Amino acid sequence: MEKKNHLFKAEIKEMLDLVVNSLYSKKEIFLRELLSNASDAIDRAKYQGLTQPELVADNPAWRIDIVADKDAKTLMISDNGAGMNAEDLEKNLGVIASSGTKAFRAALKEKGGTNLPELIGQFGVGFYAAFMVADRVRVVSKKRGEDSAYQWESDGAGAYTVEDGARDAYGTSVMLHLRTDFEEYLDEWRIRELVKNYSDFIAYPIFFKGLPEKKDADKKDEDKKEPEAPKPLNTMVALWKRARKDVKPEEYAEFYKHLTHDYDEPLETIHFSGEGQVEFKALLFLPKKAGMDIYMPQTKRGLSLYVRNVFIGNDFDMLLPEYLRFAKGVVDSADLPLNVSREMLQDDAVIRKIKQAVTSKILSSLQEMKDKKSDKYKEFYEAFGRIVKEGIHTDWENADRIKKLALYPSAKTEAGKMISLDEYVKAMPKDQKDIYFLSAERLEEARHSPQIEQALKHGCDVLFFVDPVDEWLVDSFREYEGKKLVDIAKGDVQFGSEKEQKAEKEANEKATADLKPFLDAVKEQLKDQVADVRVSTRLADSPCCLVAGANALSASMERMLRAMKQDVPHEKRTLEINADHPLVAKMKGLSGDELKDAVELLYDQALIAEGSAIPDPGRFTKLLTALMLK
Ligand code: ADP
Repeated sequence: MEKKNHLFKAEIKEMLDLVVNSLYSKKEIFLRELLSNASDAIDRAKYQGLTQPELVADNPAWRIDIVADKDAKTLMISDNGAGMNAEDLEKNLGVIASSGTKAFRAALKEKGGTNLPELIGQFGVGFYAAFMVADRVRVVSKKRGEDSAYQWESDGAGAYTVEDGARDAYGTSVMLHLRTDFEEYLDEWRIRELVKNYSDFIAYPIFFKGLPEKKDADKKDEDKKEPEAPKPLNTMVALWKRARKDVKPEEYAEFYKHLTHDYDEPLETIHFSGEGQVEFKALLFLPKKAGMDIYMPQTKRGLSLYVRNVFIGNDFDMLLPEYLRFAKGVVDSADLPLNVSREMLQDDAVIRKIKQAVTSKILSSLQEMKDKKSDKYKEFYEAFGRIVKEGIHTDWENADRIKKLALYPSAKTEAGKMISLDEYVKAMPKDQKDIYFLSAERLEEARHSPQIEQALKHGCDVLFFVDPVDEWLVDSFREYEGKKLVDIAKGDVQFGSEKEQKAEKEANEKATADLKPFLDAVKEQLKDQVADVRVSTRLADSPCCLVAGANALSASMERMLRAMKQDVPHEKRTLEINADHPLVAKMKGLSGDELKDAVELLYDQALIAEGSAIPDPGRFTKLLTALMLK
């Protein structure tokens, strides 16, 4: 083919600059990235060979070679894996998956350029790490099943070329022309050290060769013995096969980075074996942060699957429920056939059992973290809490366990802290039977809501549901350990002992009778806006509030649905009046236009307090100004 010049896509160039200049303080990790890619390529070839034996007709002894040339100052990493053709080279090394890039740009914009290293770490930039230590990189590759080899080359400054290349064997070589000051990476001991630290568990042997080799004539006599068979630098023991006590935390961390290309350490490592009906080993990780793409439906998720140590593939989403999609890791089972395909597994009983066990283990690990390491759990919950909560709705079997993991801000909990349902229930006064919650779009709104006043006065706490997902969950939530969940902004609520409730009821009836003419006048004036006007049992300091019927949509849910352009029937709500409020006493004495204006203002107040828009802001300000002038 003719040599073709290409410019990197703009965002790649941007990213390259960042990678080279700021991403990793440790430049040495370039080797880990390239070895990971080589190992992935062999995994792929091996897997393809299961169904297309012609691709592995050369009967390869899978291996990775590192060749350091001290004269030329080059370091080469070669594999005999799947290889790439011209199109692959362009696609894989000239652009980063466009969805990732889009998310990256959005994140860049949002964060305004702060915390870049952390940000970039979330995107697959592995290969580009080579430019941290090299000023020129040449990739020569021959794809399995094809006849021609191709060459990709770039100085990492904005352009690359693709042309015909010379290579007999299948696979890929990445040749780095090291920048001055990075010649340490030509030393065997240094490479040995790096492989040990970062890539020891890679399943294929990694060999090292230093050039120029000593000529026979230069060798001393004792060197002239039969050359020994070279020994790989790595031990190749799959980490998940080793006993937990024999694996160091750093080894877990490095494996996690190898697997996920995350630049951070994992928040939690869960290493266990499943026994009984299905036997398997699993090594799972919970990341510290959610990737930018965690809410994108097309994002790859799931665990890597091995069958008897043979890599079958990654992103097996059938091994994890949706609501644990942030978990990463490996499952290795001997109970599956080697020639499995994704389609076959979709409905496989063994896979279902593994999924159940993995789910259960993650949930119990989270519960333990919550009970014993609350700071760590808080970090986890901030990143993934709202995703885990989806399970309350989607995983009936485990719903109770997931409810136990949920945390909420509440009326009595100080700002910035959250409590669990268990903590809530433990603190309930003995007369309180139900669990109270209030939905709102913003926490501040909830804190200042009139609806919670009487609850607080009676010593009852109110949970605040301020995550959009909470509102969707209310239906599935219904109860926790035999206690009903009651929306404090809906229907009838009553507080205190039976005696207190009875007294309250009598007082309410008396106030209703006393205020009848006033209530009737308000009802008449607002008949198009509200279903009823009545004396409240939930207010203490505010003069009024709006409440929905026990089964109606809450105000925030209604707003949310409207925002999504859903056709929501408008159900009229009830205006509740605080009979003990001085304002009500005052309004009782008004008549004519004065009463009318005051009622209008009262209603607008109730709307504002719950975060809804008022129908005529212009008129509201006029009325308010007139009132202030008085
Ligand atoms: P990532 O590995 O996270 O996908 P990289 O930038 O490291 O990102 O690599 C981009 C892509 O290039 C890989 O997904 C793979 O398809 C391809 N690639 C990289 N190195 C090799 C290799 N040694 N052999 C075959 N393909 C490779």
